[in-house]
Amino acid sequence: MWGWVDSGLDSLLKRRTTYFGMVRPELPGGTGGQADAIPSHGAAGRTKRNSGLQPIRKPNVEVVAHETGHTMGLFSHQYGCPGNTMQAPRAAITSAQQPGTDWPFLNNYIQSTANYEVGFDVALRKLIDPLATFELMSYCSPRWISPQRYKT
Ligand SMILES: [Zn+2]
Repeated sequence: MWGWVDSGLDSLLKRRTTYFGMVRPELPGGTGGQADAIPSHGAAGRTKRNSGLQPIRKPNVEVVAHETGHTMGLFSHQYGCPGNTMQAPRAAITSAQQPGTDWPFLNNYIQSTANYEVGFDVALRKLIDPLATFELMSYCSPRWISPQRYKT
């Protein structure tokens, strides 16, 4: 338990504070990160990805975004990661299913009710292929934000 106490400052300033802790990737356990609750004001994640099938390879920005989504009230969804070698270990996926998800689609690709959606990575100046990229609250990688999550 993270023990969040609203001192009244958030209410006064009409803001919402969330604390995110970063932990060393060498610590035992298989999770990349975890939110305190859904919703909540706290979460933590490893500084680098290190989940079973994958070596430590890059900053864990996808997990930070995913766990922050949980603190904002979003639930994970799981429909598998077709053709994805970066999928989290099976046990983690099974135990992480959350029936409260609002994701209405039948797979984890980036999409909207109109069609699959092509994202754009401003930093890399690169299009995001919706058929090779998965929704932020899935357990697949690489992940990108969908229109639904952006609007939520
Ligand atoms: Zn999750």
